[in-house]
Amino acid sequence: MQRQVAKPAPQPVPGPLPSLAAEAPIVPGSVEKAQNMDWLGQVTATEIPVVSITDLGIVRDVNWVDEVLEVKVTPTYSGCPATRVIEVMIVDALKARGVASVQVTPQISPAWTTDWITQDAKAALEKYGIAPPRAAGGPNSCPHCGSGNVEMVSNFGSTPCKAQWRCRSCLEPFDYFKCI
Ligand SMILES: [Zn+2]
Repeated sequence: MQRQVAKPAPQPVPGPLPSLAAEAPIVPGSVEKAQNMDWLGQVTATEIPVVSITDLGIVRDVNWVDEVLEVKVTPTYSGCPATRVIEVMIVDALKARGVASVQVTPQISPAWTTDWITQDAKAALEKYGIAPPRAAGGPNSCPHCGSGNVEMVSNFGSTPCKAQWRCRSCLEPFDYFKCI
């Protein structure tokens, strides 16, 4: 297997990255799935520094395939521009832990659903001011004041993954994490 060289992310990644000192190379196959998932759980979603990629449920599996650590990732929705950034972050995070060779494999089916987001992550989103996704297709309350009197301003928020909403009670705008 050819050694992959970690490339810099194509664009600045918002939010603090955990500063990981490069550790000694690990023997392929020697690290258990739970540990690998734990490491991946320290990678935050690019646009949303309060939740990790495992919280979002997009990391479906991680397995050794000979010398290579394969990470199966389901994009939140097809065409999400963050997908490529997340891939680079996964490779970087695992390499920082001493994994020499990482393969990120998209797993398209079954499609990601917001049900895969952990309850803790949904609470963290709300605390951060982003209304967590709901199957009904819109937020049921304002993440700032809790009022149910909310309206959509624009279907396109600060990123394509979010819609812009506004609270009619406290008049504050907020992002809504769109359902797919
Ligand atoms: Zn409000």
